[in-house]
Amino acid sequence: MTKWVYIFGEGVTDGDASMRNLLGGKGANLAEMARLGLPVPPGFTITTEVCTQYYKGGESYPSELDAQINAALETVGKLTGRTFGDPANPLLLSVRSGARVSMPGMMDTVLNLGLNDTTVAALAKESNDERFAYDSYRRFIQMYSDVVLNVDGDYFEEIIEDYKDEHDLVLDTDLSAEDWKKVVVLFKAKTEEELGKPFPDDPREQLWGAIGAVFGSWMLPRAQTYRRLHDLPSDWGTAVNVQAMVFGNMGDDSATGVAFSRNPSNGENALYGEYLINAQGEDVVAGIRTPQDITEAARIAAGSDKPSLEATMPQMYQQFAEACKKLETHYRDMQDMEFTIERGKLWMLQTRNGKRTLKAALKIAVDMADEGVISKEEAVKRIDPTSLDQLLHPTIDPDAEIDELATGLPASPGAASGAIVFNSDEAEAEKADGKAVVLCRVETSPEDIHGMHAAEGILTSRGGMTSHAAVVARGMGKPCVAGAGTIRMDMRNEVMVADGRTFKKGDIITIDGGSGQVIAGQVKMRQPELSGDFKKLMQWADNIRRLRVRTNAETPTDVKVALSFGAEGIGLCRTEHMFFDGDRITSVREMILADTLQERRAALDKLLPMQRGDFIEIFELMDDLPVTIRLLDPPLHEFLPKTDAEIAEVAKHMGVDAEDLKERAEELHEFNPMLGNRGCRLLISYPEVAEMQARAIFEAAAEVSKSRSVQVKPEVMVPLVGLKAELDEVKQRIEAMAEAVEAEKGIKLDYSIGTMIELPRAALQSEEIAKSAEFFSFGTNDLTQTTFGISRDDAGSFLGKYQEKGLIEKDPFITLDSDGVGELIKHAAEHGRKTRPNIKLGICGEHGGDPASIAFCEETGLDYVSCSPFRVPVARLAAAQAVLKGADTGTL
Ligand code: ADP
Ligand code: MG
Ligand code: MG
Repeated sequence: MTKWVYIFGEGVTDGDASMRNLLGGKGANLAEMARLGLPVPPGFTITTEVCTQYYKGGESYPSELDAQINAALETVGKLTGRTFGDPANPLLLSVRSGARVSMPGMMDTVLNLGLNDTTVAALAKESNDERFAYDSYRRFIQMYSDVVLNVDGDYFEEIIEDYKDEHDLVLDTDLSAEDWKKVVVLFKAKTEEELGKPFPDDPREQLWGAIGAVFGSWMLPRAQTYRRLHDLPSDWGTAVNVQAMVFGNMGDDSATGVAFSRNPSNGENALYGEYLINAQGEDVVAGIRTPQDITEAARIAAGSDKPSLEATMPQMYQQFAEACKKLETHYRDMQDMEFTIERGKLWMLQTRNGKRTLKAALKIAVDMADEGVISKEEAVKRIDPTSLDQLLHPTIDPDAEIDELATGLPASPGAASGAIVFNSDEAEAEKADGKAVVLCRVETSPEDIHGMHAAEGILTSRGGMTSHAAVVARGMGKPCVAGAGTIRMDMRNEVMVADGRTFKKGDIITIDGGSGQVIAGQVKMRQPELSGDFKKLMQWADNIRRLRVRTNAETPTDVKVALSFGAEGIGLCRTEHMFFDGDRITSVREMILADTLQERRAALDKLLPMQRGDFIEIFELMDDLPVTIRLLDPPLHEFLPKTDAEIAEVAKHMGVDAEDLKERAEELHEFNPMLGNRGCRLLISYPEVAEMQARAIFEAAAEVSKSRSVQVKPEVMVPLVGLKAELDEVKQRIEAMAEAVEAEKGIKLDYSIGTMIELPRAALQSEEIAKSAEFFSFGTNDLTQTTFGISRDDAGSFLGKYQEKGLIEKDPFITLDSDGVGELIKHAAEHGRKTRPNIKLGICGEHGGDPASIAFCEETGLDYVSCSPFRVPVARLAAAQAVLKGADTGTL
């Protein structure tokens, strides 16, 4: 026979904490507390399997359930010396839902179940407090009607308010036993009116009604939505906990409260909580009365004149504090607990690992490891890597007063203030003048990169979380609010209308990319602080991880940020970003539009010193850390002049006719530039570009190597290779250039040449390609695009729907698709190593900062991941957790 019901209570406990899946979190922990000898009101848990069976069997219960519940009720009755439904000595119950993880959307707890016109009299007699008994009774009817019978709770509040008005009463506490008796009659009448049948008086009917409501709540739309948003499967089911009532509202020697074993906001190792005298259940959190501090220390710190539990009930406080310590030591984590004191006796009603802020999480993990409660490995597992984001950006001071204009999508975290600018060139010009600006656009495009770089933050009125603005801003670690649809960007008149007000260029606004808020004016900020705990935990993570962590960076600012966050190299230095800088773009355009080799060389000669200067700066900053430089990659059209003014400027520089130039630009138009003349194809069409870049790299390496003991060892990367022959074609140009520079400078260079693996063909041909490539860097953004045949920039319009329909689980541009793209990477890694056992393997692209993708890289045995500077700490922690096989943030 299946056991559907598990008892907990002194000496009779069936379950324990390890049975969370079967008993739900609340039930498993109630059982565990009872086993630990803590005072827990006895009760029983109806398992999650009953819930699963209930739905499988067309909403019917297993046949043995009734008998098992009756037996359990008898045991609980024995332990409490009462009988369920007994008119003279009734057992009263709470019915509480409890899934594996605590889940908003589930049924609210019903207290005082078992009361009716008969048993209420017994309660009054026993407690010698008629008012208490009828107050409890009316609360029960109210709760049960609302939660189980679905009668709108507002009716009952209205009845109480009307009653008070009619009788000249102000507060609920002004109502006497007689008053509550009358209210009870009114409540029952209302329920009957709404339901067309009387309120159930039979305790058994009440109990089965409540059990059914808990199981029913599992499939309510709000619970389903929550599960979908949090990736929780439906077949987990919920358990039902039925427990003897204890009363915190039996007078001034009774109380109820909630507490954390350590401070959940700053992590301080001190009991922290609140309580109310003469109160029941949720009164503490309901905000009707102001709760009091549990400890004297907290009361003094809060400047409260309401006595602490420590002062009013020192003995109870002592017992409770001991229980907290015991639980924390036992669970080896900070606990969140509920308790009730009934006439001078303490009862524990719940414990679970407490939710906490990131700051507290770091402090608690580090403290507990230092205290020897947990190991350093466990401490490292306790922090959610993605949550670190919060610590790495400036945030709005929570005390600041704000004038909110609109809310958009929280596309990239951090807050920024600055003057409004409407185009990227202006952003750059203002920045050059030392001004902070926020780039405001309908949406952004690749041509805005320089403006986005220059701006403190980016605001768009259109686009989603994977829009260009959002993706690029995240990559740059720039605050971004995207798709703030209520704002009208009037680009022509250079104004923006928000909240009925008009803002012009130069007006100051603030955006908060963590919340999506757009705010008028300057707001006080908090700078990111890398606290001692944070640093310490990161060092522990570094000792555990195997994967190296590099960064994708090309500007000195980004490189410095990445280094300060612990980057161990550059995995991707995108040279094209350097091409957009200042007036370089004009030279780039001249180079592209040149008619003759001679003209092209002339343009490239202008670019050479600039590129060399960039590389010198980077090599110097990176010291002896590795740097992978990717040769020119993007499609030509990103560089072409678009407006007539731009064409005119380039024409002037080249001394050619603007009309001719326009024609030339049109000739270069491509139907599908992403799959057009880009990457190594471009380097093959214009070999002088590869030569110029190689020369810039090698001259810079030679220059920097001169002044130090360790030679610079640049890693030159050729993008978008599909054929070994393509790589060879570019490689011989690079090698020839290296020889030339060596001869000119009279030195020996130390460098390597490798390729990106970003086309399925390259992955499949990796064994062959590795003959020429000394390293592979998996360009997972493009590899995902080319494997799926989906353009990332256009995916927004349908990928979301795919996720809604459950066709795909995760956005493959955020979390690496291990089944498809991952297979290609595995194949390439394995076959690349066949040819060249020590080939260096890494990934660059957004996935390099995503914990699940990092776990894949660990499993596949890659050497490093490379991510944007602001994700370096995230990657360091995730890489350590990948070794430890997962996170255990434990606050579920
Ligand atoms: P939640 O999951 O929302 O916390 P709970 O079932 O834990 O729901 O509890 C709701 C409130 O009822 C809590 O304040 C809890 O302490 C109280 N409560 C639950 N069971 C009992 C009981 N047997 N006796 C007294 N109070 C109870
Ligand atoms: Mg609770
Ligand atoms: Mg690419």
